[in-house]
Amino acid sequence: MPKHILVVDDSKTVRNLIAFIIKKEGFHVTTAEDGLDALEKLYSIAGIDMIISDVNMPRMDGFTFIKNLREQEIFRDTPIIILSTEGQEKDIQEGLGLGANLYMVKPAQPDKLLQNVKMLLG
Ligand SMILES: [Mg+2]
Repeated sequence: MPKHILVVDDSKTVRNLIAFIIKKEGFHVTTAEDGLDALEKLYSIAGIDMIISDVNMPRMDGFTFIKNLREQEIFRDTPIIILSTEGQEKDIQEGLGLGANLYMVKPAQPDKLLQNVKMLLG
């Protein structure tokens, strides 16, 4: 069974690009356009193995989304990579403090992203 990754970003271009990069490696991908959409998909699709999430999104931003996930027992250990345009130290500290495993700044190098995905899926 290929690992199933949820890609969350309000930009369709970014969603499709990230999905393309990781699908090419054989992963199964579902996309969501904001935090609320992502939560709905996590509840309706069993067995999401990892999440790659943007921060700046309408309706529910990435930080709120991650905080929400980490408060729930079933999502406490799901690996999360934040992929954001915001690269200041305070943003990185906030994201990691909320429970993201890694924080990457856009534009991410495809090789580096894949390396991190594989590392976290161990
Ligand atoms: Mg965004």
